[in-house]
Amino acid sequence: MLEAEHAGFAWGEETVTELLLVAAGPEVRAFPFNKRQEGGKNGSGADWLWWWIGDEGVSFGTLIQAKRLKKEPGGRWDLDFDYNGGKQWASLMSAARALQVAPTYALYTGSPRYRHPVACTKPHHPEDFMLCDQCIRKTVSLLPALLLAPGSALGSDPAWAYELAAPLEDLVDPHRHVAAMPFYPYLELSPDLVRFLFSAQTGPKRVAKELVEQIRRVRAGQFGLATADPVEVSSEDYTFPTLPDDRLHVGEPYFPNILRGLRNSPPGYVLELLANDDPETVSELALGLDDVSLAGVVIVNQRGR
Ligand SMILES: [Zn+2]
Repeated sequence: MLEAEHAGFAWGEETVTELLLVAAGPEVRAFPFNKRQEGGKNGSGADWLWWWIGDEGVSFGTLIQAKRLKKEPGGRWDLDFDYNGGKQWASLMSAARALQVAPTYALYTGSPRYRHPVACTKPHHPEDFMLCDQCIRKTVSLLPALLLAPGSALGSDPAWAYELAAPLEDLVDPHRHVAAMPFYPYLELSPDLVRFLFSAQTGPKRVAKELVEQIRRVRAGQFGLATADPVEVSSEDYTFPTLPDDRLHVGEPYFPNILRGLRNSPPGYVLELLANDDPETVSELALGLDDVSLAGVVIVNQRGR
């Protein structure tokens, strides 16, 4: 992104995604679909289905849509969360539901200098943004799409979204601790879920836990009691078959929205992909989603981490 800025290119999501996926190997492997497999009415072609795979088969699935930071004259930030009148968001949500994974945004924010005047949350931020390690790491950050419903408070404040977003590289760095926020008042949590939420996690569980905590940070600022009835997510593949029905002001219950992606073993199509090394084997999957264009599948190998 920095090189593109220097050369005067307005870098695009697809180019940056491809460079990222090529550079992040061998732990990160991309299986791009060919053009015939891509399709869809409202998609941008930038959505990738990411599966994080850890020890003993523990897996977490996310459908990731890239969002580049645009700056309007005068420096105002725009992350375009309500692109196409909110249709893009809605189709990401429905495709993630069909795939039973967590709908997620990847924010591409360009060089730290480009982000000026919005800084990361570091106290005593360096005058020169290029010298801030936290800003550099935040160049590609993840955020649950559920938080960015068109018209929501967070969606209309891109600087807040940036503050909340977690650097992609931190999520896969076993040495970087992400602060936990163990505060779940009024919620009925199963013992398994308590263990998951209140202890440090590694691998795919850590990615899932971070996305839940991002939503919780927003939820903690909202009034309204939690609903008591739990939601059943009925399949033995799910790590947590029963989850609280708590919601943000708008939308669906957030626990299942994220944690339906957490599985005790990867879905069959991921195993097929790894065995055959051929994106064609999952073409049915792409064709089954008539409302989104899937660029391919990404597998993050977190085994032994
Ligand atoms: Zn910074």
